[in-house]
Amino acid sequence: MVTQPNIIVVRFAELSTKGKNRKQFITMLRQNIQEVCKGFPSCKVQQAYDRIYVLVNDENASELMNRLQDVFGIATLSLAYQVPLAIDDIIDAAFTLIQKEPVSTFKVITRRMNKQFPLESDEINRAVARKILQETDFVVDVHKPQVKVLIEIRHHEAYVTVNTIEGAKGYPVKIQGKAMLLMSGGIDSCVASYLSNKRGIEVEAIHFASPPYTSDAAKQKVLDLAKVLTRYQPFIRLHIVPFTDIQMQIAINVPESYRITVMRRFMVRLAQRLAEQRRCKALITGESVGQVASQTLESMSVINEVTTMPILRPLVSFDKTEIIEIAKKIGTYDISIRPFEDCCTIFTPVAPVTKPLLHKAQRFESKLDIETLIEESLAATEVVMIRYNDAKEEDSFF
Ligand code: ATP
Ligand code: MG
Repeated sequence: MVTQPNIIVVRFAELSTKGKNRKQFITMLRQNIQEVCKGFPSCKVQQAYDRIYVLVNDENASELMNRLQDVFGIATLSLAYQVPLAIDDIIDAAFTLIQKEPVSTFKVITRRMNKQFPLESDEINRAVARKILQETDFVVDVHKPQVKVLIEIRHHEAYVTVNTIEGAKGYPVKIQGKAMLLMSGGIDSCVASYLSNKRGIEVEAIHFASPPYTSDAAKQKVLDLAKVLTRYQPFIRLHIVPFTDIQMQIAINVPESYRITVMRRFMVRLAQRLAEQRRCKALITGESVGQVASQTLESMSVINEVTTMPILRPLVSFDKTEIIEIAKKIGTYDISIRPFEDCCTIFTPVAPVTKPLLHKAQRFESKLDIETLIEESLAATEVVMIRYNDAKEEDSFF
């Protein structure tokens, strides 16, 4: 009899689709779980028809559970005992597990996939319950048990578990392909990244920096945020695009009230170019209708006009308080509120236009050499790969 639960049972989320899509979902989820498990070298991932199993081996089971809770596509997770197909082993495992629970009512539920097993589900339920009732003060409650002892009788082994926890739900990251996130270093764009990951979209990020008006610390903030986001997507490719020259040209040539509109149009043009190069199918922003001047429907429509790519705005109808709640949950909030300048805030006009007109934006832009400005910015772009499992600095030998 093993002394610690030795396996994690992973159940799939949103698996309403059948056939090829189902297969893709499971394959992608398995690969994503394997990626996370690289940080736990002795664990092994196994795939069955309706489950994925992670064998814990020498790893820390609760750390592994914590990591798996951030993997999209998982409905629930249970830390379980994998035991031989023998009723005594099953009873032992169930008894060991329930003893650790601070409960008084329970119910045993058996799924018997292996019809060769000599006992019927009901007989297994009763045998396990008998032992628990004999040796503890717990009582059976079939309607609202405080703890459910779940037993699965499979073809080669049985699984016994009591603690099922919620997974991150959604779809496995990458199943929908890639999109380019406009990432500011504020609260919203990180939450937009997380919600896009949840729908199965892999994110690449583009950040516009305006040195020397924006500092190294502002850039570091974006790197730190991207690092947190690798909890949900193990690598992020971050493109840091110099934006100072463009902003200077805008400041010289565009009336103050239209500067934000024109600046946003440049951001979208640059993001689209990079998105095409990197085979991204859409852009993502952290905009939410009405939040600031550039986020009115009129403004969004003038900004959209420069691209044919869909712009996803996962926060479009969220209140700021709702966004903050998610930012806290995903671990980005404390970094996002560090007080560093964003390229937008530096050149922010006192009174930006809230209902910009397309023909005016176009007229002001006609004074700028748009193509050259874009090409120069892209040529000077810095690319940083950010990985969850990167060695920490103190691990370095040099
Ligand atoms: P956030 O909290 O994401 O910064 P915000 O509420 O501050 O959003 P804005 O500053 O108006 O809103 O920015 C709206 C969106 O434009 C951001 O969510 C982001 O997608 C994009 N954006 C703004 N500044 C930058 C930047 N420096 N680099 C890349 N994208 C940016
Ligand atoms: Mg911002």
